[in-house]
Amino acid sequence: MKNTLIPIIGLEVHIELATKTKLFCTCSADHFSKKPNTQVCPICMGLPGALPYTNYEAVISTIKFGLAMGSTINLFSKFDRKHYFYPDLPKSYQISQYDLPFCVGGNFAGKRIRRVHLEEDTGKLVHETIDGVKSSLIDFNRSSVPLMEMVTEPDFHDIESIISFLKDVQLIVRYLGISNADMEKGSMRLEANISLANSEQVIANKLPNYRVELKNINSFKFLEKAASVEIKRQTEALEKGEELVQETRGYNEVKQSTFSQRSKADAHDYRYFPEADLPPIELSELIIKNLQLTIPELPEQKRVRFEKEYELSKDFANILVSDLDRANYFEEALRQAQSKFGQGATLSARTIADLMINRKLDQEFPEPAGLVKKIIELTSVAYSSNEEVENAVKSVLIENEKAVSDYQTGNGNVIGFLIGMTQKKLQGKGNPQIVREKLLEGIQK
Ligand SMILES: [Zn+2]
Repeated sequence: MKNTLIPIIGLEVHIELATKTKLFCTCSADHFSKKPNTQVCPICMGLPGALPYTNYEAVISTIKFGLAMGSTINLFSKFDRKHYFYPDLPKSYQISQYDLPFCVGGNFAGKRIRRVHLEEDTGKLVHETIDGVKSSLIDFNRSSVPLMEMVTEPDFHDIESIISFLKDVQLIVRYLGISNADMEKGSMRLEANISLANSEQVIANKLPNYRVELKNINSFKFLEKAASVEIKRQTEALEKGEELVQETRGYNEVKQSTFSQRSKADAHDYRYFPEADLPPIELSELIIKNLQLTIPELPEQKRVRFEKEYELSKDFANILVSDLDRANYFEEALRQAQSKFGQGATLSARTIADLMINRKLDQEFPEPAGLVKKIIELTSVAYSSNEEVENAVKSVLIENEKAVSDYQTGNGNVIGFLIGMTQKKLQGKGNPQIVREKLLEGIQK
C-alpha cells in the first residue's frame, strides 16, 4: 500500500500595526505610497548614537490581539536584538522579542497559537534601472514600523483551512482597529513552514525532521499557488525516496515552481541578546484586566447575536459580520427604521439585511438614513384601517396582561413593547401615531 503523506503546516503571520508613530521614534508609521525617505530620523535610520524609545500604543495593540487569540500575557517582557546583515536593516540587527514575547500560547479558530510578539519592520529595497544601470535603492520609510508576529503550531493540513484561518485573523484585527491587515498593501504578510508526515509519523504524533519555510507570501492567491506547488514537490521527492532538507524557499510565478533561497537559519545564528537601550516592560494584572475590557464585540460573538437577536439566517449574519462597516451600517439602519416604524424588529431586520445583501442598496445609499427612506418608499402601502388597529390593540392587551399592569403601576417604558407587538400583528402597517393613541386609550379603560 502506498504510504499516505500528510502536509504539516505552521504559519508565521506578520501584521503591520496602524499606530500613529513608528515603534521606537516619532516618525509617522503610515508609509504606504509616501515619497521615499521622507519619514525618517536618526533612530529609524539606525545612525550611531541614536537611542530608541518604546511606542506603547504598539505594545497595547499587540496585547489586545493576544487577548483576542486567548493567549497568556507575560507580565514581564523585553525586546531583544536579532542580528543579521541585509541592506534594508541599517543597524545590522532588528529589534524583536526572543524568549519573553508579550503573548504566549492561545487558541483561535481551532488552531493552537504558539506566541505573539512585537518587532520593527525593515526598510524596503526598490530595484530600478537608472540611466540604463540596474540599481537597488533603499526606502527607509518602513524602517521601524511596528510589526506584530503571530506564530501558530503546525496545526494546518490543507490550504483551504489556512485561508479561512487567515481571513478570521484579518477580521479580528480589523474589529480591534489595530491594522487594516491589507495583504495588497503589505500590512499582512506571511510565511508558511511546510513539511510532509508519513502515516507512521502521524500515528506516533511526531513531526518530520525537516521543514521548508515558504517566504514572502503577500496574497491569498500566491499562498494557494506556492503552497500547492511546494506540497507537490515534497510529495514527489519523498515518493522517490529522496531526503528533504531544512531550507527557505521562494516561489517563481513564471516557472510555477519553488526555488531554494538559503538553508534555514537556527535561532543561535541570530546571536539574540537583550536590547540594552530599552528597559524591559512590566505589566500588572490590573492593566491586563483593563485592556480586556476595551476589547469590542468580536466577529464570532456578533455573528451569534445577529442570528439570535435579529433572527437573521446564518448566511446573512455571516455576510454582514465579515465587514465591520457593513455590520454597523445594518444596525444603524435598523435603529432608524425602528424609530420610524415602531419595533416590528424581526420583519425590518430581515428586510434591511435583504436589501443590503441581495439588492446592494447600501452601496447606492452610503448613509443608513438613505436606505431607511428607500424602505419607506418600497413599503409605503396604505396604513391599516382604524378598525384593524383597534382589533390588534385589543388582542395585544389581552395577551400581555403583565405589561399592561406594569404600565398601570408606573412603568411607562412598556408602551414601546406593546407598540411593537401591535405592529407585529399589523405586519408593520400600523400608523405609529394611531397605534400609540389606541393603546393608551385601551390601557386606561
Ligand atoms: Zn524615525
